[in-house]
Amino acid sequence: MAASATTFDVLIIGSGASGLAAAVSAERAGARVALATKGSLQANNSSKAQGGIQAAFAADDSPEIHAEDVMRSSHDTANPELVAVLTGDAQGAIHWLEELGVEFTPENGGYRLARCGGASRKRLLQVGDRTGHAITKQLREAWEAGSGHSYTNSPLRALAPTESGWRATCGDHLIDAGAVVLAAGGRCYAEAERRGELSTNHPNATGEVTQTALELGAQARDLDALQYHPNGGAWPQNMQGYSIPETTRAYGAVLLNAEGEEFTDSLGPRDTVSQAIFDEVAKGSGVTTPDGRPAVFLDTTRIPRRDAEISLPYMLRRYRGAGIDPLREKILTYPVLHYQNGGLVIDTNAETTCEGVYACGEIAGGTHGRNRMMGNSLLECVVFGRRAGRSAAEKARA
Ligand SMILES: Cc1cc2nc3c(=O)[nH]c(=O)nc-3n(C[C@H](O)[C@H](O)[C@H](O)COP(=O)(O)OP(=O)(O)OC[C@H]3O[C@@H](n4cnc5c(N)ncnc54)[C@H](O)[C@@H]3O)c2cc1C
Repeated sequence: MAASATTFDVLIIGSGASGLAAAVSAERAGARVALATKGSLQANNSSKAQGGIQAAFAADDSPEIHAEDVMRSSHDTANPELVAVLTGDAQGAIHWLEELGVEFTPENGGYRLARCGGASRKRLLQVGDRTGHAITKQLREAWEAGSGHSYTNSPLRALAPTESGWRATCGDHLIDAGAVVLAAGGRCYAEAERRGELSTNHPNATGEVTQTALELGAQARDLDALQYHPNGGAWPQNMQGYSIPETTRAYGAVLLNAEGEEFTDSLGPRDTVSQAIFDEVAKGSGVTTPDGRPAVFLDTTRIPRRDAEISLPYMLRRYRGAGIDPLREKILTYPVLHYQNGGLVIDTNAETTCEGVYACGEIAGGTHGRNRMMGNSLLECVVFGRRAGRSAAEKARA
């Protein structure tokens, strides 16, 4: 006998920051919500994010200036409507996270703000250097405190339309829902394996849910635009693929070639900085790790000790545990595959071109165009996760 389906209003696929934000928001909008995820609730890229989340809080900043920075960093390839939502909702997203218990690092009665690559203002809020961990932890607690149902170890295997919405096969479970939110992240782990390269990503970042959506007829954009994080750890071996937070450069670290010369603006947009490192190594001015990999120096000794202790404690612990003190010696770095810039086409309510199917977080495209600024992905997860959850709840009721 065929298994019978369990029915919910809204089904969320994925338990990273975007999926959890959507799940909490859909439930708070009155929907009966299920969340299905590939592994445990904690297994995702969002928890690994260190550097921070952007929002225009500085006196000399505004959502409009933030939007200009996004457009410039994307080389005018981002969708301006989505960018206006991203930057316009940013302050509200931060306050919502605070209500859920996230404690951003304070300074002088406000937030401690750093300037990240491509930004014209100091705009990056941080929770030490474990920002993603702090955000996902509070989102998870909010989700688990509600009455929604989690299906862990239940990857999405199939999705098909029904008369009243969608039927999903997640692991061994059949789930019917009026609306579905795809929040299954990007594909850089799988892509790096295919290319034989290092990646910062969690092993669950494999991209098959994007494929499922494409097969249903959803449109995508910029899927070929994958982002290298300029500063992957290159040495020692147990730090290879570690994403050295961009806040190291925000707080004074600079990139140097073998001669000890600066060869690029260390706080340029990510694609520019990564390309400068590739070029420097290609022309023979890089250095080689003890196991023969290409690298350049990141001179972290220029970071003031106080800034490092407040904003980079985790990075310091990791390197010191591996036998290197970044405040006493330069570290070796090389770009690593990090982020899927493009993804499923969405509107400002996060609906894809398939009615009743929403997408938020790294699986969606348009908000960053072909080159994302750091700190805007966690923001995108929260801003569009909330919109996706609310809109999916509304759709399911209609
Ligand atoms: C090391 C690192 C550092 C970063 N630092 C920052 C930073 O400082 N600031 C910033 O803004 N961004 C940062 N990013 C980027 C940002 O963290 C991610 O892009 C973002 O968190 C993605 O969130 P998400 O919810 O879209 O996906 P994820 O957090 O990757 O979650 C995807 C979820 O979907 C699940 N899933 C996958 N396939 C399936 C399936 N078939 N069925 C069901 N579930 C599935 C996964 O298990 C996971 O739970 C960083 C990324 C990394 C890897």
